[in-house]
Amino acid sequence: MGGDLWITNSTALVTGRPEDPVKTGVELVIEGGVITYLGSRDRHFQERILHRLDQCEVLDASGCVIYPGLVNTHHHMYQVMTRNHPDVEGLGLFGWLERLFPMWTGVTEELAYYTSLLAMAELVQFGCTTTMDHHYVFPKGQLGCLDRQFEAAERIGIRFHGSRGSMSVGHSRGGLPQDDLVEDPDTVLAESERLIRTYHDPHPFSMRQVVLSPCAPTSVDAALFRETADLARRYGVRMHTHLAETMDEITYSREKFGRSPVEYMDDVGWLGPDVWFAHAVHLDGEDIRRLAEAGVGVAHCASSNMKLHSGICPVHRLYRAGVFVGLGVDGSASNDSSNLLAELRTAYLLQQLAEGPEALTAREMLALAGTGGARLLGREELGVLEVGKAGDCFLLNIDRAEYAGSGRDWAAMPATQGIHRPVDATVVAGKVIYRDGNWYNGFHEKEVIHQFHRLLGTR
Ligand SMILES: [Zn+2]
Repeated sequence: MGGDLWITNSTALVTGRPEDPVKTGVELVIEGGVITYLGSRDRHFQERILHRLDQCEVLDASGCVIYPGLVNTHHHMYQVMTRNHPDVEGLGLFGWLERLFPMWTGVTEELAYYTSLLAMAELVQFGCTTTMDHHYVFPKGQLGCLDRQFEAAERIGIRFHGSRGSMSVGHSRGGLPQDDLVEDPDTVLAESERLIRTYHDPHPFSMRQVVLSPCAPTSVDAALFRETADLARRYGVRMHTHLAETMDEITYSREKFGRSPVEYMDDVGWLGPDVWFAHAVHLDGEDIRRLAEAGVGVAHCASSNMKLHSGICPVHRLYRAGVFVGLGVDGSASNDSSNLLAELRTAYLLQQLAEGPEALTAREMLALAGTGGARLLGREELGVLEVGKAGDCFLLNIDRAEYAGSGRDWAAMPATQGIHRPVDATVVAGKVIYRDGNWYNGFHEKEVIHQFHRLLGTR
């Protein structure tokens, strides 16, 4: 159940719609987790709204700009365990994966829990209020990883789309993962169904949803892609996978399937408005047309694409063609952070370099991190500050040296200039879950870091 919160005294408010002016002198009222008033302290507010706010929690936003909560559309939180790993530096995706898969056989339910707590905490500290996670590593006996992730999300207070991944083609059958990380399809499908029945809440403003997400065409066979799609559509849950990430993958797809990754996805029933792909870096004009026509979305992960030498996603061409685009931090072994604000600025700068004057504007880039991501997750009620939308936002105190002179357009600032230290408050569903470095939901950052290092046996 959402909270009641009145955010007052703010310097400015950015709605998240690129065309909207920055608002000043606004009161933001959230009731039951939903925005019920956003406007000035006018007569209507004094006579009709103010009396309802007696019992309401008040958040004093003096000196702060209010931004819409951001939406992260691609991640692998378990990779916090192999973050900043020196043995994989300089490798492209396939070599990087082959080096990391043996390390990931050490994933346990307990590690899934602690890495998720840490990744989610970092996301919240940098303005993210909704995240998905693509978890596809289930070593024997560790089927409960997603259950622990949902537990972590509840403890942090973030909206969570947990995604049940899978791998069915190991090394011996021409796939990338080692054979002991491959699951049998019956287990994958039974577990996927159990997770949907246990956790998926399809209602607007829900705090948790389930996504089905075979890892990639380089580690999953066609039958499992098809069966996963059947199951997802039976329950009305969304579908996600990695696609067209590197030139190596394009070569693999042409050699093994005789077609491009997008054509292959069409064959297995994976082009539809309930699907979004991570990366989509290497696409031709026909691929883009197909994605737009089918209503497929794309999660752009700029830092990961740069680190793994993958290439540059044609964000501008996708966006102008009508493909829905969101931003994702990608896993913590290829980024290596869970900082969506940093990702927003990186994506902006990379597009400026790649596209020149045709690139998306800073305001449009902020919208990709908000409504763009919400659209991929099927959550039209998220990513924007308007009456009737979710009460998810973050506050940034702009009374600091690094923001002096930046006030000409607060909506452009996160992309052009960047926000480099944790935000001042993060609100999810009308509840203040993080403020001034403190957590309000039974989460003790230092204790969790200590537990994580104990489990991993390192510092
Ligand atoms: Zn990924």
